[in-house]
Amino acid sequence: MKEQGVKEKRSSASPRVRGWCPGAWRPMATGDGLLVRVRPPLGRLTRARMLSLCEAAETWGNGLIEQTRRANLQLRGVSEAGWPELMAFLVEHGLAAPDAEGERRPALLLAPDWREGDATHEAARLLERRLADWPALPDKWGLALDAGPAPVLRDVPADLRLERSREGGLLVRADGREWGTPVADVEAAVELMTRLAHWFVDAGGLAAGRMRRLTAPLPGWAAADTEPAAAPQASDAASGLTPGPHPAGRVVGLPFGRATAASLRAAMCDEAITGVRVTPWRRLLLEGEGANSNMKDGAPDDGLIHDARDPRLAMDACPGAPFCAQASVATHGLAQSLAERRSEGPGESAAGRLHVSGCAKGCARSGPAEVCLTGRDGRYDLILGGRADDTPVATGLGESDAIEYWETRDALRL
Ligand code: SF4
Repeated sequence: MKEQGVKEKRSSASPRVRGWCPGAWRPMATGDGLLVRVRPPLGRLTRARMLSLCEAAETWGNGLIEQTRRANLQLRGVSEAGWPELMAFLVEHGLAAPDAEGERRPALLLAPDWREGDATHEAARLLERRLADWPALPDKWGLALDAGPAPVLRDVPADLRLERSREGGLLVRADGREWGTPVADVEAAVELMTRLAHWFVDAGGLAAGRMRRLTAPLPGWAAADTEPAAAPQASDAASGLTPGPHPAGRVVGLPFGRATAASLRAAMCDEAITGVRVTPWRRLLLEGEGANSNMKDGAPDDGLIHDARDPRLAMDACPGAPFCAQASVATHGLAQSLAERRSEGPGESAAGRLHVSGCAKGCARSGPAEVCLTGRDGRYDLILGGRADDTPVATGLGESDAIEYWETRDALRL
């Protein structure tokens, strides 16, 4: 391992920041073909739609389905020639908007444990009807509808947030502001969000890009004078969605955010499962009473995570090579090798233990990780306690170096 006596600056091979998000109508060319991103309506797919997505992945993609940090699902390896047919299929099965315009509306991210008719769900339904009249907003704009007793989406990027106040009332909070504006009910919240979207554009928000970067003071009619409810103490906001039984069904994890369509289809074979809620935490909530019935004899080896102690829950890895054109190294194989070298998993409490990134952009994890391996020129840089683009303590590592370091580090911990 090449230790760094003097901290080395990163090479000029910096990742390309695109500034826009791919969709279904606007696929992104990647290392293995087109990436087509599907935005589940209200963060949920019915069983039939999920099975259709599996069919699409196998027919037009490479057979893999990925889950993003914004609770979307995406297909990879789609050819230019096959994309029109794929789009016709996705539209027909309710997996894509009928046109590109419908896809350009701000994303709605719902706290995954919403219930039919609660404030989160009602706000989403009202917004779905109103968004067509909103002004054009930057591609990455999104709304977090997070009106349970305590917020769970604080770590997920969003520009406007519906949350609870400390006293339990509803409030709307512009991202980047600590406090929010109280509202009487869900209708008033949607009205205020609509006004704030127009204000954002009028105040120069299109140049700023995101609400948190817009430094203009909020207008008097949206005074941020109410303290929001505190987030749970758990370091991992997803701790309420531990793999295993859940009051609404069953939670399964996707290793490093990816699974084969065959695995997901098998997980859906239980007809007790009525739908899937897609979360921002590489976990799916399989809805339905009795969704646990096929787990009585233990979790199957089906390529999904069923055990809260699985070490992969504390690890992040982006798609890497050959899936991403910006990657010079593979990521999932190394992350899996490192996961297998732990006899017992750290589980939920150690989120951020390891991050394997194909390049310095760090798509899989924006925050620091205890150990980060970042690809550069076909080798790995080692970063301790930092992000993928932080200064490494060692460079030019091969996979075996990384494994040796990991095993030594673990041995020293005992
Ligand atoms: S971090 Fe990974 S997925 Fe993101 S651009 Fe770099 S190689 Fe691609």
